[in-house]
Amino acid sequence: MTQQEIARRLEEVRSRMQRAMEAAGRKPGQVLLCAASKTQSPETVALAAGLDIDLFGENRVQELVDKFDKGAYGGKRADMIGHLQTNKVRQTVGRAGMIQSVDSEKLLRCIQAEAARQQLVQPVLLEINIGGEASKTGAAADLLWPMLEAAEDCPNLLVQGLMTVPPKADTEAENRAMFARMYRLFCQAGERGYARSRMEVLSMGMSSDFEAAILEGATLVRVGSSIFGPRNYTV
Ligand SMILES: *Cc1c(COP(=O)(O)O)cnc(C)c1O
Repeated sequence: MTQQEIARRLEEVRSRMQRAMEAAGRKPGQVLLCAASKTQSPETVALAAGLDIDLFGENRVQELVDKFDKGAYGGKRADMIGHLQTNKVRQTVGRAGMIQSVDSEKLLRCIQAEAARQQLVQPVLLEINIGGEASKTGAAADLLWPMLEAAEDCPNLLVQGLMTVPPKADTEAENRAMFARMYRLFCQAGERGYARSRMEVLSMGMSSDFEAAILEGATLVRVGSSIFGPRNYTV
């Protein structure tokens, strides 16, 4: 894809975001656009990095490492948004601006140990499986509290909020109800006032539903195909 083609698609995404933000009474800059760049080549990502994208999101550690080390993100932040195995934590900490997909206490502690080793503070989000589907990644909602407790003992972590990928909904109302449930959890977590956690980032919404997510309180949307076109998984 050429940079003009990406720019044209991006403009469309930005205006959809704008309309949703206006409808939700949100101010410009209150919702970040994360370009989900899985399967996109370092060359394509470098073209996109020159455009109006706030940050990138990768699903696979190998892609994050490859594009990061080639400078494809052009100095922009790149987050880990896919399931992270503990044996890949070493390569991820320090490269990922934020690890959005922390879904267990074990992973939390593993990231803490690596961040301590690298002498840095790693921002993270806790990923919640809000729909409770067996096939989805993310921790069950009732595990949020023990994870937040565990984070209290992790001086090299900064929990900045929550992330979710909701189940496919049959209707717009169902979709919004799922995002609303996530927003309530986010507010509850903020109210409980954990010293090492700040509930500032609520990452939810993808190409098909980011307007609904913004209406329900998302502060960061992760958009792939609406920016880059349909993914080609064979490359
Ligand atoms: C791929 C992906 C997205 C973006 O999906 P699109 O439907 O292409 O916008 C968002 N979040 C996660 C975790 C993803 O894996």
